[in-house]
Amino acid sequence: MVWGVAALGLTGLDRLGEDLGAAASALPHLATIGVPMPDPASMGTSSPGFGLLGIGVALLGACVGSFLNVVAWRLPRQESVVLPPSHCPHCGTRLAWFENIPVLGWLVLRGRCRHCGALISPRYPAVELLGAGLWVAIFLATPPLAGGTIWFASGPIDWWLVAAGWLLASVLLPMVLIDLDLLWLPEPLCRWGLLLGLAVTALAGYRQGGGVGSRLLLDHLIAAAAGLLAMEGLSALAQRLLGKPALGLGDAKLTALLGAWLGLYAMGIAVFLAFLSGALLGSALLLIGRLKRGQPFPFGPYLAAGGLAVWIGGAPWWSQLLGAAFGGGLLGVGRL
Ligand SMILES: [Zn+2]
Repeated sequence: MVWGVAALGLTGLDRLGEDLGAAASALPHLATIGVPMPDPASMGTSSPGFGLLGIGVALLGACVGSFLNVVAWRLPRQESVVLPPSHCPHCGTRLAWFENIPVLGWLVLRGRCRHCGALISPRYPAVELLGAGLWVAIFLATPPLAGGTIWFASGPIDWWLVAAGWLLASVLLPMVLIDLDLLWLPEPLCRWGLLLGLAVTALAGYRQGGGVGSRLLLDHLIAAAAGLLAMEGLSALAQRLLGKPALGLGDAKLTALLGAWLGLYAMGIAVFLAFLSGALLGSALLLIGRLKRGQPFPFGPYLAAGGLAVWIGGAPWWSQLLGAAFGGGLLGVGRL
């Protein structure tokens, strides 16, 4: 298994052929952002310190998920994401402090507003749980700073890279929710997400030296442009063949965002995963009658899931897996 680092450090075009050993050796060059380092010796997976840290990470993810729920509700309505504090969208009653606790608050209220009894969507606790799971997965999948062993058997945690993964998830989650609600991927989120991806790439790259930084940034810039053009081209082609657009412009922009974060190679895998899972789930929904033929369905969630899957699993790991699943020829790019 390899990591987000594959996206940040190893997707440069000339590095495609490098093996996993090289991935590990590139890691120590990534500096941290000044978070105090825990004692490496106490970081074995079985140590109580590690368990506590995992719980803390899950709680943090649940809280961020809770906030992103609010962002996804208020952003399309052009409301401030900070003020007013959380309230029932039905009667406007402000939530008490304990009702704001992720998942538990919803359970205590049994999914209803304490004032007016209006149903509170189970999506809220679901997204909070998803946040907790994603935060832990990104945390666990990020390799330690010194040494190449996973699960922190050796080496301090690379908080900088962990935070970069959490940032990517924080950008993608509200986009998924808004696309599910409105079949719309907001332009500002696409634009800021793309710029953040380039900034993180530049930081990660230049910490490894100017040569690496420039090469990495160029690769991710090319990926963003290629992603946008390829998806727009595909959409235009579908328009000619089917007489209606199959992909929204937002999907092209989200692909560009993934390119900025992942680089060309990893973005390709993410988009492939998105089409694969979209086709599988779309067919399943057609079969059970939840989706009608020709009915539009949001593609953003598949792209976002593909992007996060590649960030967490790493492009080389997915390439191997897909290579094995599809006979090796299709995505054997890892050995170009
Ligand atoms: Zn209410």
